[in-house]
Amino acid sequence: MTPSDVGATVAAAGVGEVPLPDDRAHAAYCGACGDPLGGGHDAQAPACARRLELEPPRYCVVCRRRMKVQVTPGAWAATCVVHGSVEHSTWH
Ligand SMILES: [Zn+2]
Ligand SMILES: [Zn+2]
Repeated sequence: MTPSDVGATVAAAGVGEVPLPDDRAHAAYCGACGDPLGGGHDAQAPACARRLELEPPRYCVVCRRRMKVQVTPGAWAATCVVHGSVEHSTWH
């Protein structure tokens, strides 16, 4: 257990060294549109960064798989079958 990400991201238990679907340090793809990062699309593209503030990521940033997104009152969870789940509270 490392207190990274200031509680915004909750790792699925037991994932260990596998990068999470929103791990920016391992990101190779945009979570909003799925485009590869580093070419014409950088990780902080304003349109996509804004989308990701408002809604869950659609793509795993590590492997580009479409994620299963569940939205509940007060939170969303996005799940990559390989890289696990991230949850984010939408309470302010
Ligand atoms: Zn994008
Ligand atoms: Zn993945």
